[in-house]
Amino acid sequence: MRSCLCPGSFDPITNGHLDIIERATTIFDHVVVAVLHNPTKTGLFSALERVELARAATAHLPHVEVRSFANMLVVDVAKECGADVILKGLRSEADYAYELPMATANRQIGQIETLFLPGDLARGHLSSSLIKQVAELGGDVTEMVPPPVHTALRAKFVTSR
Ligand code: ADP
Repeated sequence: MRSCLCPGSFDPITNGHLDIIERATTIFDHVVVAVLHNPTKTGLFSALERVELARAATAHLPHVEVRSFANMLVVDVAKECGADVILKGLRSEADYAYELPMATANRQIGQIETLFLPGDLARGHLSSSLIKQVAELGGDVTEMVPPPVHTALRAKFVTSR
């Protein structure tokens, strides 16, 4: 059985992340989505909320497991999950420039390969931070996030206004 690790902050999970995860399930038998968080940094959603949203967004995918990890190296998370490779989505050359040193370091310190999957061009503009900015100012993000995330964003920003 071949498995991959899809690590990230997922604050919150977007349709860009979901595209990569769905396509990963066509290549790997098992996909672990690792929600990584740093307890000293505050995101919009708590670690528990991010996990719950990622689980709701991937509920239709039987071979996907969502787990949460704090303050751990990705290579250690991969080992703990029994993942064979790390899988990352690439939106642009900027993503590649950012990811390449991390992939090299992870191979050096953890003897694990990173595979890159090209992102869907139609979702290349999607990032959690852009979506949070749009949602905070009342913009429509329906097409950008899975329905449970849309509901959660509305709840966050409607109650904070
Ligand atoms: P980070 O915590 O490094 O900011 P994210 O949680 O935003 O990471 O994303 C995790 C992974 O998902 C990264 O590899 C990132 O390149 C990828 N990703 C994010 N958005 C998209 C998208 N729209 N299309 C393809 N891949 C994406």
